[in-house]
Amino acid sequence: MIRENPDETYDMGVQKHIALVAHDNRKKDLINWIKENQAVLATHFLYGTGTTSKLITQETGLPVRAYKSGPLGGDQQIGARIIENEINFLVFFWDPLEAQPHDPDVKALLRIAVLYDIPVAMNVASADYMFHSKLMNQKYKRVVIDYSSRLQRKINV
Ligand code: PGA
Repeated sequence: MIRENPDETYDMGVQKHIALVAHDNRKKDLINWIKENQAVLATHFLYGTGTTSKLITQETGLPVRAYKSGPLGGDQQIGARIIENEINFLVFFWDPLEAQPHDPDVKALLRIAVLYDIPVAMNVASADYMFHSKLMNQKYKRVVIDYSSRLQRKINV
């Protein structure tokens, strides 16, 4: 079927642009997971929210481009980079047992990640499965759903 507005595609190279984020109660799990996967992570570009980034570099020596701390808008900055296709992979260990002051930002980041069809790991098992995928060493074409019919909806004024 030929569509008038084909879905938009985004190319991912072999080297991914990975954002690493963890809430305070999950930071230890993320650091342990990073240590186990350090050799692979070192072959990609890394980004993160403020405190998480600092901790990763301190504990592993990996270079991480740091944005603001999550509660100060770091999640929103990472969401913006996903929209701009500068970040294309998210490992986000969020806390399932404690509300955060910036819960709306967390929800917004996860929504943008789904909308732009980037891989998202939210716990150790999914991160393990994703990092052992053969796609980690390949180029990949993400398909962003064509939402133009939604954008062209009629507004009565
Ligand atoms: P932090 O932010 O890395 O600055 O702690 C994480 C978050 O709460 O999203």
